[in-house]
Amino acid sequence: MLKLNRRIAAIKPSATLAADARATEMKLAGIDVISLGAGEPDFDTPERIKQAAGKALAAGQTKYTPVGGTAALKNAIKLKLKRDNNLDYEPGEIIASAGCKQAEANVIAALFDEGDEVIIPTPAWVSFAAMVSLAGAESKFVPCSERSGFLLEPETLRRAITPRTRGIILNSPSNPTGAVYGPEQLTAIARVLVDTDIWVMSDDVYEHIVYDGLAPHMFHLEPRLKSHGIVFNSLSKTYAMTGWRIGFAAGPKEAIAAAGRLQSQNSGNPNSITQAAAIEALTGPQDELKPMLEAFRKRNALVVERVRRIPGFKLPNIPQGAFYVFPNVSELLGSRFGDKEITDGDGLAAFLLDQAHVSLVGGNDFGAPDHVRISYATSTENLNRAFDRIEGAVAKLKR
Ligand code: GLU
Repeated sequence: MLKLNRRIAAIKPSATLAADARATEMKLAGIDVISLGAGEPDFDTPERIKQAAGKALAAGQTKYTPVGGTAALKNAIKLKLKRDNNLDYEPGEIIASAGCKQAEANVIAALFDEGDEVIIPTPAWVSFAAMVSLAGAESKFVPCSERSGFLLEPETLRRAITPRTRGIILNSPSNPTGAVYGPEQLTAIARVLVDTDIWVMSDDVYEHIVYDGLAPHMFHLEPRLKSHGIVFNSLSKTYAMTGWRIGFAAGPKEAIAAAGRLQSQNSGNPNSITQAAAIEALTGPQDELKPMLEAFRKRNALVVERVRRIPGFKLPNIPQGAFYVFPNVSELLGSRFGDKEITDGDGLAAFLLDQAHVSLVGGNDFGAPDHVRISYATSTENLNRAFDRIEGAVAKLKR
């Protein structure tokens, strides 16, 4: 067998991107698959953003830029952090990367070492743990109960901290649960972390997709966290720019500079045309966000209603943000289709892809094997068709 690097050999492909790839393959083979897999807005990138990219291309902005992004982009990010989050960062405290994922992976690799523990409240997005293990550190999964709305309780956090804890990754609104922390909950968690030297990483990529109003940023509620805190964000969801690959991190200069050194060695600057588009996205009129949010709000109501109607799918909490629902399917585990037994959420997702041609992501890699993740970043028509199919397929399972 080919000998690989130990850390690379141990990681699996991203479950969300793998689900998307399988659905795309089936579509190419002529199968009518409905994708509720990868979390990707179905809206097109707003015209003004595309035009900015076109202009940059015509003006020949096709050369290397500074590794962490142009001065104009860093200023646009600075403005965004102030406008949307009430946080002050200087350009030297900001790095732009090829997607938020790259910013996160580079910062995590820059900050943590062998022997370090990074707390990941679960269910959590599939890639956090892989990023931590690639850095040689260990993920300490801290399960958050469905009863508490999948939110981390301050007491649970306090108990999870050990002398080896060096970081925590928070993500609100949450992928995959759609859970959103309110100001009191954020303040309570901040209180546990503020007098420690634990790096507090706040992944805010779904910040604009909240149905009940955005809470102030945790680092605004507790400004002392900024000295050991990193903000991560992306343009993918807010401006429907997934394929453009642009995201960023902001935090203490030394941490950001270290991530920049790594980025200078393993990739360099994010795409120059994308950077020009990102400046327009962040600094231009922000009114496209509203209709997108309204569409997501309607879909959220539809999906909650349809999911709750499927026998064996349980959704006790109504997700308050992002565009995912994460139902508990434990009642269906142990049921069979032909000679196949459904043993976990991944098995159910595979069954539904096979029998209903609906793509979802099983909960295993989110740290919740009794669940499946359903993305509702698609039209209500597609959603209704998908749920009709899921209901039909689930009815065929023998319990
Ligand atoms: N964050 C999205 C998802 O969870 C995009 C895919 C990814 O990079 O994981 O589906």
